[in-house]
Amino acid sequence: NSIIEIKNLSKIYDEVLSHPTFALKNIDFSMEKGEFVCIMGPSGAGKTTLLNCISLTDTPSQGNVQLDGQDVHSLSSRELTKLRYQKLGLVFQKANLLHYLTIYENIAFPLTLFNEKTKDIDDKVQQVARNVGIEELLKKYPFECSGGQNQRAGICRAIVNNPSILIADEPTGNLDSENSHEIMRLFQSLNNQGMSILMVTHDPMIASYSHRVIYIKDGEIKMEVSRENKTQNE
Ligand code: ADP
Ligand code: ADP
Repeated sequence: NSIIEIKNLSKIYDEVLSHPTFALKNIDFSMEKGEFVCIMGPSGAGKTTLLNCISLTDTPSQGNVQLDGQDVHSLSSRELTKLRYQKLGLVFQKANLLHYLTIYENIAFPLTLFNEKTKDIDDKVQQVARNVGIEELLKKYPFECSGGQNQRAGICRAIVNNPSILIADEPTGNLDSENSHEIMRLFQSLNNQGMSILMVTHDPMIASYSHRVIYIKDGEIKMEVSRENKTQNE
């Protein structure tokens, strides 16, 4: 049962110029429900473009993306917004918290945009904060917290609505080794609770927490390694 299914996906920049850049070339990729998959590859390989096409923040030039069995190209912009809200949690290198809001208000923020009841919002924020281990930070402001604590708060905000897929672009890129491993243990625990995770990283130690690593170079999948050490070269 696939949570993500991509067929023949290409992304071309500067299509109107004489030297188009193929950021992605005919990518086929699928991910099972409950998998934890990592994307690696050199700078400029197309990793962020691929994540952006999957997280519906960028539009492919060609090809097809299915999320949880839904063909995203057939959806109206209203349906896309709903799909994004219900199915996707996004985490980046920086937590991008709003500095004038408390940690609690930052985590609650996406829920307030969708007219949830105050009581439901409070339940969800308290529960996710317990799950991620930052209950004691809820009244603080981001400037009063460490980088690792703020990253945890950003993860809480991403998963407060219990999305099916967590999509993370270099989530440990700004953290020291100890905090990075803590974030990965958190990802493992979320994955054990049933969340599918797709993550970009440069760090092989971080990638080793995943079930499967996809190597991308020049916009193409060059190699795939799963934890059972089965290697498939294309
Ligand atoms: P990675 O995340 O692996 O570093 P990217 O997905 O950011 O790679 O970029 C892939 C390629 O697409 C690079 O050659 C990059 O310069 C190009 N690219 C990315 N975004 C844009 C854009 N908005 N306009 C033009 N070219 C882009
Ligand atoms: P990454 O951390 O994935 O390597 P970059 O620093 O390459 O990301 O890119 C940061 C942002 O700039 C991305 O949103 C990407 O789409 C955009 N970008 C990358 N390359 C280009 C380019 N050649 N022209 C315009 N935008 C680009």
